[in-house]
Amino acid sequence: MSDDQKDKVAVNEKQIGKYKVEVMRDKCISAGSCEAIAPGIFELDEEGIAVVISQNGNTDEEKLLGAQSCPTDAVIVTDTETGEQVWPKK
Ligand code: SF4
Repeated sequence: MSDDQKDKVAVNEKQIGKYKVEVMRDKCISAGSCEAIAPGIFELDEEGIAVVISQNGNTDEEKLLGAQSCPTDAVIVTDTETGEQVWPKK
């Protein structure tokens, strides 16, 4: 792979992972929809509360869909490039 190609791959990887997700544990009611939509990101722990197992297990779109599926808005999505909170909408 040429250096030029490597640069392109690096840019693509960065774009895939530009959203950061956090779970507010006190808001989670164990509905499990975040895990169903983005199983590479969310997992229910032994207490049945969602935890983030990786920031790179699914695409940004799947992260966002998982967050939007949460009935209590317990998942916060932040754009790491702009610092903006993407979800829940303020
Ligand atoms: S969708 Fe929301 S309430 Fe359900 S497990 Fe995920 S964080 Fe918890």
